[in-house]
Amino acid sequence: MTLSERAGSTMGRIEIITGGMFSGKSEELLRRMRRALIARQRVQVFQPEADTRGADERIVTRDNRDLEAITVRSSLELRERLLLGVEVVGVDEAQFFDDGLVALATELADLGVRVIVAGLDQDYRREPFGPMPALLSVAEYVDKMHAVCVRCGAPAHYSQRIAGGSDQLQVGDSESYEARCRRCYVPFEPETSEAVPLLSAASSVEEG
Ligand SMILES: [Zn+2]
Repeated sequence: MTLSERAGSTMGRIEIITGGMFSGKSEELLRRMRRALIARQRVQVFQPEADTRGADERIVTRDNRDLEAITVRSSLELRERLLLGVEVVGVDEAQFFDDGLVALATELADLGVRVIVAGLDQDYRREPFGPMPALLSVAEYVDKMHAVCVRCGAPAHYSQRIAGGSDQLQVGDSESYEARCRRCYVPFEPETSEAVPLLSAASSVEEG
């Protein structure tokens, strides 16, 4: 029996969990993966090498089977590390992947695999991020998550950069970004074009 024949009994699909930073995308991805594990499905979770934050995150099930996110450098490496018979494939921080992820997600879903992708829809300039726009187009299901605006408490749709340079791929957490709503978002101006240790941010730069 070929892989595609075996997949005939289940319908594949692509699900996207997106939104800004601090909106709970990874938590929602892990929640779905955990439920798939409880249902005794064969699952794998991948994350790009660029993301170090999730390195020690693991999914632990009630019967103590755990699942570590597999770090890969490209969509090609992700493809190579797929297990035969995998039923659910999770991808975290998908905005850092190459465009090959779109074709791979489609191919897997066509073969009957449930593909769950979590990632930022926009960068700090509010521009579409990496392969996410194309993934949003091909997905059956899209959930936009919202954080809470740190300024006013409204649902936050943007990742406001508050420190560092103008590199789109600057990885950081609450020291470099905060959640902001449309009213409170302001375009970020790098303090300097040269690389300056973030320590200098400790001198507390207040924004208007
Ligand atoms: Zn606000």
